[in-house]
Amino acid sequence: MLEKLKEEVYKANMDLVKHGLVIFTWGNVSGIDREKGLVVIKPSGVDYDVMKPEDMVVIDLDGNIVEGHLKPSSDTPTHLAIYRAWPEVGGVVHTHSTFATGWSQAGLDIPNIGTTHADYFHEAIPCTADMTEEEVKGAYELETGNVIIKRFEGMNPMHTPGVLVKNHGPFAWGKDPHDAVHNAVVMEQVAKMASIAFAANPNLTMNPLLVEKHFNRKHGPNAYYGQN
Ligand code: 13P
Repeated sequence: MLEKLKEEVYKANMDLVKHGLVIFTWGNVSGIDREKGLVVIKPSGVDYDVMKPEDMVVIDLDGNIVEGHLKPSSDTPTHLAIYRAWPEVGGVVHTHSTFATGWSQAGLDIPNIGTTHADYFHEAIPCTADMTEEEVKGAYELETGNVIIKRFEGMNPMHTPGVLVKNHGPFAWGKDPHDAVHNAVVMEQVAKMASIAFAANPNLTMNPLLVEKHFNRKHGPNAYYGQN
């Protein structure tokens, strides 16, 4: 069942290793078949060296296992909350990549201070609020999804396809698993560039016109970047 999506999700997980975003088992990617309402996600705690496409777990949007011989990722309820909240999302990624996690631990949004950021993320990449004791002791992974969704109130998640979960790490998403990994890789680079830029000049500035120029030339009705 969903063999093509399993291959895609498996490959997207392996791409996290290829791009240096995960070590050990610190990350997960999922993808959704919107017509069937089913999600394919990485199994929990399985080494990337031995993981196979057939190890991917199929679940419904309520988290019931539909197919699979392994336990799904521990972060599954966070992925599902994102899919339920935002119908345009087709793939979700979580990592503990170094620079993005550094900003998460600092509890700071990554401001939009360069055209690399603006090409992919319209706004600052937001950092979520502290989780309450009730949220941490309760359905923690689901509540992690809820704090992400709350942080995006008034924002377009497809225009800023990533978030920093405070003291935890980044989540990114996209139209499919491959696109979500692409955004996670860019987020890590943007976090690295921002760390270097602020270390060199804590008083740096960014022209908001450049943000609009770069975001709109790649996204929206008048985008002109790339081939037709
Ligand atoms: P899983 O192996 O359960 O997906 O966990 C990885 C991780 O990064 C937890 O935050």
